[in-house]
Parts: sequence; structure tokens; C-alpha cells
Amino acid sequence: MRNNTYPFIVIGGGVSGMTAAIYLKRAGHDVMILEHEIPGGQINRTAEIENYPGFLKIDGPSLAMNIYQQVQNLNIPIIFENVIEINKEREITVKTTQNEYICKRLIIASGRTSKKLELQDEEKYIGHGISYCALCDGAFFKDKTVAVIGSGNSALEEALYLTKICKKVIMINRSEKFKGSKILYEKLKSCSQVQFLYQTHVVGILGDETKLTGIEIMKQEKKSILRLDGLFVYIGSTPNTSFLKNIDIHLDQGFIVTDQNMHTNIEGIYACGDCVKKEVYQLTTAVGDGATAATTAEKEL
Ligand SMILES: Cc1cc2nc3c(=O)[nH]c(=O)nc-3n(C[C@H](O)[C@H](O)[C@H](O)COP(=O)(O)OP(=O)(O)OC[C@H]3O[C@@H](n4cnc5c(N)ncnc54)[C@H](O)[C@@H]3O)c2cc1C
Repeated sequence: MRNNTYPFIVIGGGVSGMTAAIYLKRAGHDVMILEHEIPGGQINRTAEIENYPGFLKIDGPSLAMNIYQQVQNLNIPIIFENVIEINKEREITVKTTQNEYICKRLIIASGRTSKKLELQDEEKYIGHGISYCALCDGAFFKDKTVAVIGSGNSALEEALYLTKICKKVIMINRSEKFKGSKILYEKLKSCSQVQFLYQTHVVGILGDETKLTGIEIMKQEKKSILRLDGLFVYIGSTPNTSFLKNIDIHLDQGFIVTDQNMHTNIEGIYACGDCVKKEVYQLTTAVGDGATAATTAEKEL
């Protein structure tokens, strides 16, 4: 068992959690981050970021590394463990798969995880044709045909990245319009190797023993088969808040409800970033929330 008592603990080493920790440490407080994967969170899966002020263009992993470097320069410990439970009596207890930690103030910055299609054989072909990360897996599809499912900014951005690698990129959208930004949509439309399928649903996954070979799609009640080498899925995400099951924290569809200063309904517990119920889920809002949560929490210690 580690020395396990801290004034502040942050759950999640994504951009929001790392920002909160940087603000706390710079205000003179000891803080520890619990992270169960790698620092940076979702941006590790983002090929190109063009809307984060201060950078004309930056890839996600480089931005993650820059923020992580700031965390390291401040000697903020990151403990790589998976949080499975939180309790609050007199103190706040954070239980991981290996240890139990105690803190006076807790900031939850656990973010979101990509949604799956929930179709038969999806799990079987993950890493064998199905991916949720163009940046991680795009290179495996050089000069090949891939489809991108989704209609938001993530789908549009990652499809643009794939146009630089793949022979053909087929955009599959359930509705008539893309929800993402017009500028990204126009860029994609100007790429000759991109084909758009609207009002089209993916209803089945096809493959052989080793890999995905295509998908079954449906448009206006008519089914057809699309032969593919790869399928990239960007259909939204769900908040990582299942570890809150034992505490009476106010959630809305799994997202943590906070006020504008990032207080939850439980004294001493704050939340920030993509795990919070809000309108805009972006890097700018995630870092803003992190700074606010830290500033609020440190004033109230
Ligand atoms: C493909 C894609 C492209 C995007 N492009 C852009 C863009 O161009 N511009 C932009 O502004 N935004 C973009 N976004 C959105 C942006 O990435 C997010 O809004 C932002 O990264 C959220 O940061 P976060 O720290 O709140 O959450 P996350 O990045 O999700 O970080 C949460 C962290 O918590 C950790 N964690 C979760 N549960 C636990 C647990 N139980 N125990 C320990 N650790 C845990 C996770 O491992 C993760 O590291 C994109 C998102 C995606 C998916």
C-alpha cells in the first residue's frame, strides 16, 4: 500500500484533469492524478487539431505530450491505476483495483469513451478491420478502401486524415446532413476520393476468419453490401462514470451535473471536462473546466 493521503486527487489524466492538476500545483498544493491508460485521454486518438487557440495545427499526441511535460516539470505524480469506486463519509475515499486513497478534495475528470455499433461480430474484427481511431490505425489501410461512420466533427476530421492515406473513403451518415462543422464538410467534399452515403444505416458486419471484408447497409428499406478493407466508427461516446455507482452524485444520462464553478452536489467533489453534462465538448471547454474546478476546489480547502 502506498502513502495514500493527499489534499487533492484528480481522476483522469486527460487534458481537463492535467489542467486541473497544473493549476492546483501552481497554487502551492500537493495533488496526485489517477489515470488508467496513458496521459492525454481522447486527444491521443486525434490526428489534427485546428481549433485549439495558439496552435495553427497540432496533432493530438503532441498536444497531450506538451501538457504531460508541464505536469512532469511540476513534479505532479501520476499513478497508473483504474478507479473503481468512490465513497464519502468524513473523508473522500478513492478505491482503485490495487489501492485505496484518501483526499480532502476530489476532482473527477474521467472523460468519455467511443460508442460501439453494437453489431454482431464487431468485437471480433476490432483491430482486424474495425477501428475507432484513424490516427492509430489509418496507416494499416494505405491505398485501401475504408468507410467512416458518423456525422459529427470527429467523423469529419478523421475522414480528412484518412484521405491522405487511403484510396477511397466512404462517408456513411444516417441522416441527410452532417452535424459537424461546415468548414470540415466542405474540405471533405473537395476531396476526389471521398464518396458520401446519406440516410444510410449499417446493419451488419461481414468478414472471413481473420478480417473484416465489408458491411451490410440499408437505405430506404433496401439492403446492399459494401466491400471494404476498413471501417472507422465515430458515432459518439459515453461518459466514464460507472465508478460512481456507490455515491449519490447527481448524473444526467451518465454525465455528472455541476454548477458553473464545477461543484457537484457532493461537498468536496468537483467535476470537469467531457464527463460533465454541458453543451460543448471540446478541448477549449475541457481545459477551461479543469482550471475552474481547480480554482474553486483550492479556495474551498
Ligand atoms: C476523434 C476525436 C477527435 C477530436 N477532435 C477534436 C478537435 O479537433 N478539437 C477539439 O477541441 N476537441 C476535439 N475532440 C474532443 C476532445 O478530444 C475532448 O473534448 C477532450 O479531449 C476531453 O478531455 P477530458 O480530459 O475531459 O477527457 P478525456 O480525454 O476522455 O480524458 C479522460 C481520462 O480519464 C481516464 N479515465 C477514465 N476513467 C478512468 C478510471 N476509472 N480510472 C482512471 N482513469 C480513468 C481516461 O483514461 C482518460 O485519459 C475530439 C475527440 C475525438 C474522440
